[in-house]
Amino acid sequence: MKEPMRTLAYVCPACRQPVIVERSAFQLAASASRLPCPCGKSALRVEPDGTHARLCVPCLACGRDHTVACSARALLEEKVLAFSCAATGLDCCYVGEEGPVFAAMKRLEGATDKLGPKDGERGAFLDELVMHEVLSELKEIAQRDGISCTCGSHRWKLQVNYSSVDLFCADCGAAMRIPAATADDIDDICCKTRLLIRGGEGR
Ligand SMILES: [Zn+2]
Ligand SMILES: [Zn+2]
Ligand SMILES: [Zn+2]
Repeated sequence: MKEPMRTLAYVCPACRQPVIVERSAFQLAASASRLPCPCGKSALRVEPDGTHARLCVPCLACGRDHTVACSARALLEEKVLAFSCAATGLDCCYVGEEGPVFAAMKRLEGATDKLGPKDGERGAFLDELVMHEVLSELKEIAQRDGISCTCGSHRWKLQVNYSSVDLFCADCGAAMRIPAATADDIDDICCKTRLLIRGGEGR
């Protein structure tokens, strides 16, 4: 007889990746389990305790660990168990059958995508690929001298932000923000041959 398997899932607060692991019901019931994220910076802990089980869940939403409890029967047999963050109300952990846990994680990822990134833990850009594409499009437009200001200047400065690029007119200081967050932003700039910074009128 095949051993019944349980799927456990949470989102790592350190690297923000979903961590989904499989353990047999027997493993979970027999001894404490530590289920680490591959990045090594967080781990879900499961401790059986007689008729109950305690879970210690790293929480992406609030950054703390939550200790939650459920019956051993629910841990080992429930189709899908959801544990949520006491501070934000967002789900932070699922235990159950593979299919329902994957489906629940998909929904959760949609929600956590909207959480602001935490300072110091985010990458240089919201989306490296989008930023790279937007910058290379900008470079092409610049090479054709396609960037100018309504004040008549063709001299400009560039500032690269987390999810956008700012162009500044070097003469009048007017600014123009170019979003660099999503694939749509690449499409938008791809179809432009020139960029006009809205600054002062000619002097
Ligand atoms: Zn991680
Ligand atoms: Zn939390
Ligand atoms: Zn200007």
